[in-house]
Amino acid sequence: MRVANLKGRLALLTGDGAVDVEHASSGGFGPDPSAVYERWDEFTAWVAGLPRLPAPEPYSPADLRAPVPAPRQVFAIGLNYHAHAAESGLPAPERPVVFTKFPTCITGPYGDIALPEGGHTDWEVELVAVIGRTARHVAEADAWDHVAGLTAGQDLSERRTQLAGPAPQFSLGKSLPGFGPTGPCLVTVDEFDDPDDVALGCRIGAEHLQRARTGDMIFSVPRLVAALSALLTLLPGDLVFTGTPAGVGLGRTPQRWLAPGDELVTQVETIGEMRHRLVTAHAGRGAVS
Ligand code: ZN
Repeated sequence: MRVANLKGRLALLTGDGAVDVEHASSGGFGPDPSAVYERWDEFTAWVAGLPRLPAPEPYSPADLRAPVPAPRQVFAIGLNYHAHAAESGLPAPERPVVFTKFPTCITGPYGDIALPEGGHTDWEVELVAVIGRTARHVAEADAWDHVAGLTAGQDLSERRTQLAGPAPQFSLGKSLPGFGPTGPCLVTVDEFDDPDDVALGCRIGAEHLQRARTGDMIFSVPRLVAALSALLTLLPGDLVFTGTPAGVGLGRTPQRWLAPGDELVTQVETIGEMRHRLVTAHAGRGAVS
């Protein structure tokens, strides 16, 4: 099942088009794309029980927005691939390195993103897990049952802010407006050949910047859900950015940053593609997508 936010309304995507959930359920489920995760089991049971989906209507991909536009919690994992830890000059962690992206940074799969003036803005393709059931003390073996699905993400990072001062400011440098693109839709776990080994990457134009598989993650999605839920409560609709593979601009010689005019294309197997154009920031205006 492919679940989307189409112009702010919860929708199911099929090969042919989109089905508006509120209309198809005669109001049984509301239009809010963030609210459905509170009733995720009920929602998946409703979809499974439909004799057939109502006729889909054509849509423009440009109208897709963040699958979960207003998550209550956003977790992000640092140094979760060996090669990325090495390019960062740091040892592979023995337990997950966790920070947050403040939810106001979340944006959709297409559009413009403003580069802050004087900043060094970097790309980080990531697989993003969306929580589908409240999780507290969940065993690794039961963790996928608490995940509604997966989507693509970019953990865009302004490195000057992130690395300034005596202690790193990961959460600040990664939470500027538009710095949390997600999409183009949420894909349920059953749609993947192997949800623990998904190809992902990003490029500028034809130049590939990152190419990897999530099978190379140090801590898999189930291990992350188990580790996080051992300490705190994961809520339906929460996002977990699972970490980026090698190839970020920070780890290059010379270092390289996103520039105005770049089109950043982000691809995750089975999920699809996001496209963002980086633009110059203007005073008083943040991301325009
Ligand atoms: Zn990251």
